[in-house]
Amino acid sequence: MRAATGVGDEVEATMRAVRLTAPGVLEQVAAPTPTAGPGQVLLAVAAVGACHSDLHILDAPPGLFPTPMTLGHEIAGTVETVGAGVTGWSPGDRAAVYGIIGCGTCRACLRGRENQCRRVPVGGIGLSRDGGLADYVVVPASRLLPIGELDLIQAAPLTDAGLTPYHAVELARPALRPGTYCVVIGIGGLGHMAVQILAATTAVRIIAVDTSMAALDLATRMGAHHVVQAGPEAIETIRAIVGPAPDGADVVIDCVGVDATLTTARTVVSTGGRLLLVGLGGGTLPVRPVADEPPTLPLETSVEVPFWGTRAELQEVIAMGQLGLLTADVQTFPLERAPEAYDLLRRGEIHGRAVIVP
Ligand code: NAD
Ligand code: ZN
Ligand code: ZN
Repeated sequence: MRAATGVGDEVEATMRAVRLTAPGVLEQVAAPTPTAGPGQVLLAVAAVGACHSDLHILDAPPGLFPTPMTLGHEIAGTVETVGAGVTGWSPGDRAAVYGIIGCGTCRACLRGRENQCRRVPVGGIGLSRDGGLADYVVVPASRLLPIGELDLIQAAPLTDAGLTPYHAVELARPALRPGTYCVVIGIGGLGHMAVQILAATTAVRIIAVDTSMAALDLATRMGAHHVVQAGPEAIETIRAIVGPAPDGADVVIDCVGVDATLTTARTVVSTGGRLLLVGLGGGTLPVRPVADEPPTLPLETSVEVPFWGTRAELQEVIAMGQLGLLTADVQTFPLERAPEAYDLLRRGEIHGRAVIVP
């Protein structure tokens, strides 16, 4: 912890933090070093994944997210200090952060589904309170999961880029039968982890779709059986693989969520298939429940909008990382270069996950 030169007798410890200082404005500032209150832990941040959702937060209209707020919701680090009443964690312990903070008492939270909390919509570290793009972050001790010897730079992306597609795959698991097709659209931070999760935990044929050839190369390295470049011919190319309607892909995981990808998703999904809309790209999926051709959605198809995942699932994702079954393709940046990492992410020039290393 670095002590800043104070005025008079006041010497406040400050740290570096990359903050949303006003809607759309991301800058590195000196912020007060937080202290761990009761039940909390002060974590020395080792690594933070740069998620595309952070760009949505940056682009959000005023009032939706608090300012100033330190960004960063994909966090791993070591315990610096523990607050009163915290048991089971000691300085030096290595941990990954489960970013969601539900109310803890609603019907969903009581079932361990804090990602469906009925009282706190989209609450979490780096979403509704200060996140990890800083030297230190305070988190409730209940949000920490042990990672053993796992590399901290690998642990960070597991907490969202790994957890979110893992949760989506868990939702769709009954439909992911051996030999069926699963289409993954958008092979970025989340998508390249989705491909690995499918490859490691199912026997489906994986079709990866992206606009970028580099992303498709990554998909092949991660275990995709087919790659399709997004564009005017993508639907035809996917149909040539999965066969004509009413057959098709049993599961489609859209990690982009713009009109074009939603159109691809609903056009290649099979009758009775499942669409998992993970990407928050602002597109619209039309649904008109009729049986005529061509339908907006095939009959018996279900649509889900997964959000992040549960703590129990994160534990399993960490286990996959420890077993060498899930490895993020990372590009690291020092804290000072976090804004540049987000610029590259926006331009589509990050492959795999950008990880900021304070
Ligand atoms: P990313 O920028 O790392 O990856 C996006 C990928 O999509 C890139 O490879 C890009 O080339 C590709 N792409 C862009 N437009 C495309 C198109 N029209 N067709 C095909 N591919 C296209 O982003 P990310 O961090 O993986 O996040 C993906 C999306 O998921 C974002 O919208 C993000 O906000 C959202 N997200 C949702 C949740 C959730 O809980 N539902 C959690 C995390 C992220
Ligand atoms: Zn995210
Ligand atoms: Zn709740």
